[in-house]
Amino acid sequence: MFDLNKIVRRNILELEAYSSARSEYVGDADVFLDANENPFGKWNRYPDPYQQKLKKQISKIKQVDTSNIFLGNGSDEIIDLLFRIFCKPGKDKALTFSPTYGMYDVSAGINDVELIKVPLNNIFELNYNNVLTYLSDPLLKLIFICSPNNPTGNSFSKKTIEKICADFNGIVVIDEAYIDFSTEQSLVELLNENGNLVVIQTLSKAWGLAAVRVGMAFCSTSIIQLLNKVKPPYNISATNQEVALNALQDISTFEKNIALILSEKEKLREKLRQLDTVEKVFPSDTNFFLIKVKNANRTYRQLVEKKIIVRNRNTLVKNCIRITVGTNTENNKLIKALQELENKS
Ligand SMILES: *Cc1c(COP(=O)(O)O)cnc(C)c1O
Repeated sequence: MFDLNKIVRRNILELEAYSSARSEYVGDADVFLDANENPFGKWNRYPDPYQQKLKKQISKIKQVDTSNIFLGNGSDEIIDLLFRIFCKPGKDKALTFSPTYGMYDVSAGINDVELIKVPLNNIFELNYNNVLTYLSDPLLKLIFICSPNNPTGNSFSKKTIEKICADFNGIVVIDEAYIDFSTEQSLVELLNENGNLVVIQTLSKAWGLAAVRVGMAFCSTSIIQLLNKVKPPYNISATNQEVALNALQDISTFEKNIALILSEKEKLREKLRQLDTVEKVFPSDTNFFLIKVKNANRTYRQLVEKKIIVRNRNTLVKNCIRITVGTNTENNKLIKALQELENKS
């Protein structure tokens, strides 16, 4: 049975959260002399530590109660907080699949936590039997599942993820950074039945707000409580909260941009397929393609010379390159450059 109190680090369980001025007194008043702020200026006040307005709008869009939403300074902050809450440095372990998003590994390293990497199969699917042996390890506290997965682009089977959630007594984190580009539904719908589930999303990709640094975690109120205890009191700046809220109120622009990116994606897929250099375009449930070429290091270098930057993923998947879907003009420049390289060789 999953028991949150058994898997959270003891020091975090016993920790008394810092009580900031803005969380001790919430509401309107005439005179605020409680936070040692400067009385002059436009940006002189501390921001809302719990980002209530922003959460209300996110709640409307995502159909998740505000009490089940945590906001981080990018989802990368949330990943780090989860390590710090659940994994005792030098002792506990986490698990992910490979290849996947590099921050799980970096965050594990920073926190001195061993990260077990279970290889995906040759079509990048997740195999339950390869995870099974690890699930009963009492030192294993976190499992990171990136779906749709970066850099492979595919989504994992909902059934398999559900089975891992059901059979694991630690925390299962599903990173849905690309969910708004996906044909699959978000797994937030599993939150009610799975107290050990944390679903992470971000405003950095489909919402076009990478500079604004807002990541979201959807989970039980007990896990939210722990995240709130460990986060820096004012982790999202007032300007960032304001910019994010404005963008989230314009859903029609969001939908229009996604539709545009998805239609450009189909055009790009066709053009990539027609190139001789491109040996394979992997199926994608995201705003990027993983492609296999004859020599990824060489193609990458040649594109850099033409001032076109893609992501060389050769060290993760042999001879593979990750290409983000750009504007029509950008995608055409890429295709033209690849054609020129073919004609030259
Ligand atoms: C881009 C990306 C993120 C986003 O991180 P932020 O810190 O929210 O910008 C998270 N997870 C994955 C898998 C990503 O590819």
